[in-house]
Amino acid sequence: MVQTVFRQFRRSIISALFPDRCLLCDRLYHRPWPVAEQNRNIRPRNRITAFASFAKQVICDSCVPKFSMIESPVCTMCGMMFVSREGEDHVCGNCCKLPKHFMTARAAAVYDNLLMHSILLLKYQGRTGLAKPLGRILLFAFLHYFATQNPDIIIPVPLHPQKMRQRGFNQVFLMIHDWEQQLPEHGYHTPFQIRKNILQKDKNTSAQTGLSKNRRIRNIKDAFRLENGSDIAGKNILIVDDVYTTGSTVNECARVLRKGGANRVDVLTLARAV
Ligand SMILES: [Zn+2]
Ligand SMILES: [Zn+2]
Repeated sequence: MVQTVFRQFRRSIISALFPDRCLLCDRLYHRPWPVAEQNRNIRPRNRITAFASFAKQVICDSCVPKFSMIESPVCTMCGMMFVSREGEDHVCGNCCKLPKHFMTARAAAVYDNLLMHSILLLKYQGRTGLAKPLGRILLFAFLHYFATQNPDIIIPVPLHPQKMRQRGFNQVFLMIHDWEQQLPEHGYHTPFQIRKNILQKDKNTSAQTGLSKNRRIRNIKDAFRLENGSDIAGKNILIVDDVYTTGSTVNECARVLRKGGANRVDVLTLARAV
């Protein structure tokens, strides 16, 4: 009891002295503190509470309602959200014209301000503390969309070795590296492997951001290859990435994996551009 009061007192002092700036509106706010303690007390139970709990760590209360999950109806293949909120999931015009190499792509949430800022901070400013809460959102999205697919192998989209040296980490791997311990805690017991080296990125492509769809496809073409000696014949594989924009990166990964004998390839991303 005394300890709890002391902890609350200490928390309020620290929070008063060091308010955080909201990622979205830039106002100072007092976030629940410390994060580790908050994680222990508030255990998200699904993708929506995981998202809300993450949001509270980086944005102020008035901005918390400003995030949007991905909701049906979506394209059964690429996961695009249809503008109309009525009706069933179905294949979109683009996927009818040019089917993808993967079976389904699903994302946790819309790539709006909140996720855009968070992912940029993680990738380009080394805020690796964001990897864990973002990874939670991904984990619940996995349970929501892929728990019955039972992938044998989970692959984070690789970086080119030079980019890896510059950045020092693969942000997607950071988000999912502890899933082998985390998933059983949520009742998922099917064995799987996280293999970050099966796909190698040989071509140091320029950033896809700002390129047109066709230029993205050309830019990423033949950028990946299978690691020598990797046996993926007949395996079900899930590719994980941070953002799905036109899907050209994950589609190219899926093409290489299918060519290498994978039975089925699916895609999970944290965010999806709409
Ligand atoms: Zn705010
Ligand atoms: Zn589609």
